[in-house]
Amino acid sequence: MDGAKTNSKAVDLVLLGPPGAGKGTQARKLQDRFGLVQLSTGDLLRDAVAQGTEAGIAAKTVMERGDLVSDEIVVAILRDRLEEADCQSGVIFDGFPRTTVQAEALDNLMAESGRGVGAAISLDVDDDAMVERISGRFTCAACGEGYHDSFKTPANPDECDQCGATVFTRRADDNAETVTQRLVAYHAQTAPLISYYGSQGVLRNVDAMQDIEKVEQNLTAIVEETVA
Ligand code: AMP
Repeated sequence: MDGAKTNSKAVDLVLLGPPGAGKGTQARKLQDRFGLVQLSTGDLLRDAVAQGTEAGIAAKTVMERGDLVSDEIVVAILRDRLEEADCQSGVIFDGFPRTTVQAEALDNLMAESGRGVGAAISLDVDDDAMVERISGRFTCAACGEGYHDSFKTPANPDECDQCGATVFTRRADDNAETVTQRLVAYHAQTAPLISYYGSQGVLRNVDAMQDIEKVEQNLTAIVEETVA
């Protein structure tokens, strides 16, 4: 079934976990495998900042500090994106929800279209390892493939393994100081969602300290069960 698009009915998934847990990396893999759409509020906000929209201007300094952007801004951006045609057959929420207010807003949005979160998967990691994981990461500017100075370098250092592009980017907030604040925000505001989804009976846990392939296998098994 490797690489197969097995998405026969709409399935909506939430990936939970602190910055550096691997949400983006794994969401990309699930997107390819199951034909779902990766919906990253971090990416949507970075686009808004780059375009200089009103929301982007408001979000920029908050993101640079490592704090959470207001629920109002994030839910509005998310709602607009969720209405687009490609999101109708299933979404992997990556970095959303991050607060209980956002989780409740998501439940309401999904209920409006007869959908619901099929599984909220917590990527469990040790905080101590996250600063090193995040500080070394970089991305292909063309295709978004992720790399890391210590754990995953391109075979040819100047060229993306996936698409051959030669420009890589590093996120402005991937520095040790901001990462520490992002972890604080995670524990204060986002970790409570583990019990929120636990009480809805949709919480699943994956040990995300395992290597990337093993985490991918665990996630694939959960998604296949959810789709079935
Ligand atoms: P991420 O790419 O998910 O690591 O997000 C990068 C930054 O964008 C975070 O540190 C927050 O400042 C902001 N952000 C992303 N998603 C959300 C969200 N759901 N709620 C609030 N802020 C967010």
